[in-house]
Amino acid sequence: MVRTLALRGGIRSWVGVHVHNNPWWTGGLRYFNAESDKSPPKRIAIVGAGIGGTAAAYFLRQQFGKCAQIDIFENGKVGGRLATTTVEGNEYEVGGTVIHPRNLHMKDFIRQLGLKERQVNIGRVGIYNGEKFTFEESSSFLINVLKLQWRYGFNLIRLKIWLNGILEKFSRIYHYQHQEYAFTTVEELLHALGGDEFISMTQATVEEVLLKAGYSQKFMDEMVTPVMRINYGQNKNVSAFVGAVSLAGAQPNLWAVEGGNWLVCQGLINAASAELVQGRVTAVECQSPPSRAEKTFSSYKLDIEKSDFSYSVYDIVVLAAPLHKNMANISFQNFSHPVGDFSGKYHQTVATVVYGLLNVPFFSYKNLNEFTLNEILTTENPKLFISSVGALSPLNVSVDCKVKVTEPAAWKVFSPEPLTQEQLDLLFASYSSKSERTWLAYPHYAPPEIFPPIILHDNMYYLNSIEWAASAMEMSAIAARNIALLAHHRWYQKTDKIDQENLKA
Ligand SMILES: Cc1cc2nc3c(=O)[nH]c(=O)nc-3n(C[C@H](O)[C@H](O)[C@H](O)COP(=O)(O)OP(=O)(O)OC[C@H]3O[C@@H](n4cnc5c(N)ncnc54)[C@H](O)[C@@H]3O)c2cc1C
Repeated sequence: MVRTLALRGGIRSWVGVHVHNNPWWTGGLRYFNAESDKSPPKRIAIVGAGIGGTAAAYFLRQQFGKCAQIDIFENGKVGGRLATTTVEGNEYEVGGTVIHPRNLHMKDFIRQLGLKERQVNIGRVGIYNGEKFTFEESSSFLINVLKLQWRYGFNLIRLKIWLNGILEKFSRIYHYQHQEYAFTTVEELLHALGGDEFISMTQATVEEVLLKAGYSQKFMDEMVTPVMRINYGQNKNVSAFVGAVSLAGAQPNLWAVEGGNWLVCQGLINAASAELVQGRVTAVECQSPPSRAEKTFSSYKLDIEKSDFSYSVYDIVVLAAPLHKNMANISFQNFSHPVGDFSGKYHQTVATVVYGLLNVPFFSYKNLNEFTLNEILTTENPKLFISSVGALSPLNVSVDCKVKVTEPAAWKVFSPEPLTQEQLDLLFASYSSKSERTWLAYPHYAPPEIFPPIILHDNMYYLNSIEWAASAMEMSAIAARNIALLAHHRWYQKTDKIDQENLKA
């Protein structure tokens, strides 16, 4: 059943242009109703071999069985935004790094694929405001609690309770997906998990929501904003939902995949028996059925640059790469409505891995021996050219990341722009190597968020619409499972499993 929530009216009317012109497109499964003993799809195409695309292949294989041919098209490297870099003979994560202990799809993937978890212990954290540290973690748990209590009162405890409540509701997705429920829009999915609260969290900034709830401005600026800066390169103006995901990413017991997170993507391709086709998809052309009355379906022809691949017509297409301006650069031809014409942009973040000696005096520290921090977060200060700097441990070890600042080590610096030579010389007393990666990393969040559609056409789906709720590996995995279920139910007209309200958690 499709609801008409006032809050979501804006989003509905935004996609409504296409919905009303195409009754067979979204909620209206009328087109499919005439179809009963339908054979499974013969060919499925997935564009993008990041965690989203590869997880989609895995789940689509589960849904449609072994007969369908699944092809994954990838322009760059398997893993996409999950990538590593080698510095001084060791490999480090340079894209998506940490995974929350309650990210159950990621957990399940590594179990199924025989991969291993690597604990990510970030060591001692400090918050730097451009002049001094407003908080420095000490080795004593009790001292940390007292320091935080003294400076922020009960803000931190309240935040922990708030986050736990959100995580609890969010975890319903695993139960619903296990029961094979699917959602046609990101708002339907969020609403099923957290009701109006989750929807409204995408419509206001984290600052608005927390200040309204009585948190202090000091706590906002000195604790919440630094976490937004390290995790999303942005500030307290991200949506409250992104804020909650980001703050959850600062909780303990985070983990990563031993050997590199991208190994999950490679493993999922193999487990799905999917074919990886190297090459850029330049166009998707809709090949309409000769007549709707004949109960045949649209198919899609993919044009691929630099590939001698011969099978290019598909029954189902999953686009698992951002379609925003200057991203996947795919042209959509012969569709009755514009596709992929979304507003908003992706946010630039530069990740630089530097092997060297941190220049401790840069952080207003005179005595090197007193400096024990491993992760430096920053508050918003126009003078600061970095969002964060943190010590790294190589991908193959599960050790405490406690480096001595008197010895050279690998540090990851996040900054909005590539670091200049002058900035590197300010930040490091000396360094022997560096590796820099500029990402269009995640959406630039500016609530109220408008979600791109999941269903782009009959049997063409868009995975990265979920990133506009929050970008994370697990979010892509959840979107992948949702699309596999949705594609399956729509193919076989199982309407009772789509957009159901009042699901029992
Ligand atoms: C610096 C950074 C840090 C992050 N930290 C974390 C973190 O700690 N934890 C976390 O959970 N998440 C983190 N994220 C977010 C996370 O990495 C992403 O949300 C997730 O990897 C997105 O996966 P995806 O498969 O949806 O997209 P992508 O990984 O972007 O995959 C899309 C793929 O499509 C390919 N492609 C694009 N266009 C075409 C085309 N036309 N034809 C063929 N192929 C095409 C691309 O090459 C790419 O491989 C971080 C991201 C960045 C950049």
